[in-house]
Parts: sequence; C-alpha cells; structure tokens
Amino acid sequence: MDKQLLLLISLQELDIFRKEKKNEEKVGFEIDNIKKMKEARAKIVSQLKDHIYRKYTRLIKRYGNAVVPVVNNACQGCYLVLPTQMISSDQLNESIVTCPNCGRILYWTD
Ligand SMILES: [Zn+2]
Repeated sequence: MDKQLLLLISLQELDIFRKEKKNEEKVGFEIDNIKKMKEARAKIVSQLKDHIYRKYTRLIKRYGNAVVPVVNNACQGCYLVLPTQMISSDQLNESIVTCPNCGRILYWTD
C-alpha cells in the first residue's frame, strides 16, 4: 500500500479517536495520553506531503471523515459505484485516489 495512504488512514483513526475522547477530557481524560496522541499526530503529519494533508484537512472539516474504504466497488462515503476503469486498475492502493463524486480518499481492502 502507498505510504501516504497508510499515513492518512492512521491519521484519521487518531483524529476520530481524539474526537470521541473530547467529552472524556472534560471529566479528566489523562493529560499524558493527550500529549502522546499529539506527538503521534505531529509525527504522522510531518511525513505527509503538504497537498495531501491539505486535502485531508478539507475533507475532515467537510464530512467528518476523509479516507474511506471501497466495498462492493462503492465509495463508503457517498455510496457511488465507481467507474469500471477505476476498479479494474492494478494500481489500487498504490497511489492517492479520490472519489469522483464526493472527493474522499479511497482505499481498497481485501
Ligand atoms: Zn464518494
């Protein structure tokens, strides 16, 4: 799998986890964990190409998620069935591919 794509998936997991933890923060979610997560996030972001991170940020703000799997040839963000030429590519997961409808970043699972 493309390294940038893997980084994006990890970043999104972290961001969603952080969002879920926000309520707990108020009731005393350990400062230590927050610090560790921030460090992990910064490390991921430092390895991402600028334009890819900007795309990610835009998508997260707009939809709440940015990277979605393709299941049964459909984008799991907007459920558009992807054009055949996209699905039949042998380069799946080897580059950053976005959904032609919603623009989310796509990845294929086995
Ligand atoms: Zn889509």
